[in-house]
Amino acid sequence: MTNVSIAPCTISGMSDTVPLTGEPLALDLVNTRPSTGDQLATPRDLLAWWTLEADRLSDEVPREVGDEDLAAVLAVREHIARVLDHVRRGERPPAADLSALNQAQRAAPAISELVRDGSALAVTRRREGAPGVRLAAELAEAAAGLLADPAVGKIRKCAADDCVLLFLPSHPRRRWCSATGCGNRVRVARHYQRHKAD
Ligand SMILES: [Zn+2]
Repeated sequence: MTNVSIAPCTISGMSDTVPLTGEPLALDLVNTRPSTGDQLATPRDLLAWWTLEADRLSDEVPREVGDEDLAAVLAVREHIARVLDHVRRGERPPAADLSALNQAQRAAPAISELVRDGSALAVTRRREGAPGVRLAAELAEAAAGLLADPAVGKIRKCAADDCVLLFLPSHPRRRWCSATGCGNRVRVARHYQRHKAD
């Protein structure tokens, strides 16, 4: 029998959901809240996500994070989601959310520090503060870049009815958050429907 009960928006099944990555960082963050549940529910989840995104983030993955770190990141996720929602509907985003995102950056501003690299000098971007505050600042900065970019108008929701994930299509025909996730799931479900009708 064809299995149509695969959980939405997951790569490896319901018990072990892997967050979608590879979209602009701010979208990846918002996408950690698929319809199946919150993928940043615990500090452990945050560490796992941080590890997944490690090569796009300037901070190294810390050894541990706590509830306060998670709270800082979740707050930024909430503000980005709300601003995106307004912007995508062509509405004016709430001032409180914009100001909260700016505040999140201000809590741990990035300093371009000069370091010696042999006899030459190099610049490294560094933030001070608790891990979650630094990560929240970096995510808020990424969000500022995305939200002010005209490309924000191209962001789409996955075409699967039960999927809330967002993506920035690099070609206009893209319909799914993931071809191997929702794309495949919907194809399998349609196949099953067709054969049930026979
Ligand atoms: Zn999807």
